[in-house]
Amino acid sequence: HLSKRLATVAKYVPDQARMADIGSDHAYLPANLALNSRIEFAIAGEVAKGPYQNALAELTNHHLTNVIEARLADGLAAIETSDRIDTITIAGMGGTLISDILENGKDKLAQVNRLILEPNVGAEIVRQWLVDNYFEITTEEILSEDQHVYEIIVAEPTDIKAVYDAQEILFGPFLLHEKSVPFVEKWQGQVAHLETAIQQMEQAQKVPADKIKEFQQEIQLIKEVL
Ligand code: SAM
Repeated sequence: HLSKRLATVAKYVPDQARMADIGSDHAYLPANLALNSRIEFAIAGEVAKGPYQNALAELTNHHLTNVIEARLADGLAAIETSDRIDTITIAGMGGTLISDILENGKDKLAQVNRLILEPNVGAEIVRQWLVDNYFEITTEEILSEDQHVYEIIVAEPTDIKAVYDAQEILFGPFLLHEKSVPFVEKWQGQVAHLETAIQQMEQAQKVPADKIKEFQQEIQLIKEVL
């Protein structure tokens, strides 16, 4: 049984995909998809030994080692050309780390026709990387679960560079137009967080005027959208 967050990622994995789940930890996502006969093959990539062991244990328990291979590797180094991976999922990491993983593994993306990404912070960094590297965002979802708000970005390669304005990069082109309840929750929370940070800076001995201004501008940007 997957969390709502991972179930949403799973929903966007094409039927009978050959997928790589990078930073898979327990390999819950590919294991669930394999148990439901939704994928042809998967790699559960992990850079850390403990999580890699978690993946191995999960796959052995469910007799899935014929469909899913756990590999100890940094990012997309887990993927070989002969794996014919067409779908990559990267969930539960910061946007900077996700875009670094994609950037460092660019040569592995030529055969890939879908990326499903769930950055837990810094989604705008992921969106900017996608645009710069000829991926267009085809769908986005935002959901809340256990007091957290999660964003899922689905992207596909494109010949013509996608064009998004600054607002769309920050808030998400689809999420911005939907303005769903979790979206409003997330950005109201960000305003509250920024306002607290400004108050604390103002109380401090040295007031970093530039930083305060930057935060105020972000608050302004959010308030225009909400
Ligand atoms: N993807 C799962 C999920 O969404 O529930 C697990 C998320 S867990 C918070 C992040 C995992 O990413 C950790 O197990 C960590 O070891 C792994 N990780 C971090 N950097 C990585 C990298 N460069 N390559 C592969 N895995 C990485």
